[in-house]
Amino acid sequence: MFVDIAKIRIKAGKGGDGHIGFHREKYVAAGGPDGGDGGKGGNIVFVVNDHMATLLDFRYKRKYKAEDGQPGGTKRCFGKDGADTVIQVPRGTLIKDGDTGMLLHDMSDDQPFVAAHGGKGGWGNAHFATPTRQAPRFAKPGQEGEERFLLLELKLIADVGLIGFPNVGKSTLLSMISAARPKIANYHFTTLAPNLGVVFVSEGSSFVCADIPGIIEGAAEGAGLGHDFLRHIERCRLLVHLVDAAGSEGRDPVEDLGTIRRELAQYSDVLSQRPQILVANKCDILDPESDNLTRLQKRAKEMGMPFFQISAAANQGVRELVFAIWAELEKLPPVAVYTPEMVMEEAEVSAYRDIQIHRGDDAVFYVAGAWVEKVVGSVNFDDYESRMYFERTLRKAGVFDMLEAQGIQEKDTVDVLGIQFEYIY
Ligand code: GDP
Ligand code: MG
Repeated sequence: MFVDIAKIRIKAGKGGDGHIGFHREKYVAAGGPDGGDGGKGGNIVFVVNDHMATLLDFRYKRKYKAEDGQPGGTKRCFGKDGADTVIQVPRGTLIKDGDTGMLLHDMSDDQPFVAAHGGKGGWGNAHFATPTRQAPRFAKPGQEGEERFLLLELKLIADVGLIGFPNVGKSTLLSMISAARPKIANYHFTTLAPNLGVVFVSEGSSFVCADIPGIIEGAAEGAGLGHDFLRHIERCRLLVHLVDAAGSEGRDPVEDLGTIRRELAQYSDVLSQRPQILVANKCDILDPESDNLTRLQKRAKEMGMPFFQISAAANQGVRELVFAIWAELEKLPPVAVYTPEMVMEEAEVSAYRDIQIHRGDDAVFYVAGAWVEKVVGSVNFDDYESRMYFERTLRKAGVFDMLEAQGIQEKDTVDVLGIQFEYIY
């Protein structure tokens, strides 16, 4: 089964909590705070695996979680960091935000991509020892790991896409020019997954060629493939359009040419403008009386497409075609790599710093937002020192300035997610 779309949930590890501990030693009376920091939560990291060709694995496993960091210990012992979870995907997988559909990353090079960062470990109380606060009774809890809903979409990376009606010989051609061994058979369901092959041209020169099903294939049979597979030729720099010159299935190759071009245009304007080479295949069984070749050649000329006559099965004209493809490729820009539409840092900043303040009818100043929630979650309100810490954190983040800007006065009430206090600057 070929699967080229998947939806998954990922969650990075939570940071380990900071430890509250006090130095204890024989004959040393009140030892100082020595609680260590929690370890960092593991990240969720994507890497390319060239042995994978589909997103099938994600059909069966949809949730991925990285390990949490270990809590800190006494004697300033750091907690162990949580291990990263590495998710392997085929080359060309687009990682999109599952909610907005915006592109986060294009997995087309060999760089790993961190899609969710583990939470930071909390500071142990050893950090909070200051000359004025000798015995801090609080530590910070570890932060939650990032959690995301992702849409994975495979868009294969190939220089050349073979297109055409079923049974015109696309798979046969690919098998002749590369080491790929696609299924070849005389029925229309042969190619229900794209096949990729590396085509050797000469020492140091090669290109990747994809045999793409689905323009007519399947769709015509009501298999519901429609244009789904066309996304796999979106990156191709050159399209090689194959027709059955012999009309061995009773169709006219010139009509086929028009049909496929219309289908392409319907799917995407950009794609229908992509450079194309027209290849008349099955010339070995062409009726010598037929005018198919001359008509095809005429159409190719009108449309400005280079034209080749081959027999993939008999290996005639195939080598010449490979050289011609290479010559075209040398004139064309490299395979498209998509640029992210949404930079993660930006997304994060807005998510964690979206401090909202509004004044209620009850004259209370309400403070809310994801970042504030995070801060509140890390405070122990039963503890005076922890409360003071909370206040300082808000002040540092500019919350107090924002309150002032909104006209807050001394002794006005501030409500931070249900926690109320009097405002004293
Ligand atoms: P695809 O559906 O476009 O991938 O077509 P295939 O490569 O599976 O080929 C369909 C049928 O046409 C198979 O039976 C092939 O053996 C046959 N075929 C492919 N190329 C040629 C050719 O050049 N000459 C002849 N006579 N048959 C061919
Ligand atoms: Mg095929």
